[in-house]
Amino acid sequence: MDGQISVFDPRDESSPCYACLFSPSDSFEEVQCSTMGVFAPMVSIIGSMQAAEALKLMVGTAGPSLSGRLLMLDGRSMHWTEMRAARDPDCQVCGAAPVRSNK
Ligand SMILES: [Zn+2]
Repeated sequence: MDGQISVFDPRDESSPCYACLFSPSDSFEEVQCSTMGVFAPMVSIIGSMQAAEALKLMVGTAGPSLSGRLLMLDGRSMHWTEMRAARDPDCQVCGAAPVRSNK
């Protein structure tokens, strides 16, 4: 019943990466979509917005992207919440001294 969308643009040095927002070392209590199912319209709502953001990035002059912003949609109330996200200088993936995995 929830959807999230953002843009992670590695060309932009101020853009956070996915791990800046959701650190791999953090543990989240999450409900798997494969267990609980997916509210089908949410897929097309978020998917359409992803397509729009991709087109905006390709065109380059169609306005600012969602880089650095995380939009969260509560499908029950259809209420959007926006969170600003900055690059984490201590990020394990894109920080100054990223930790490399041997996996
Ligand atoms: Zn990062």
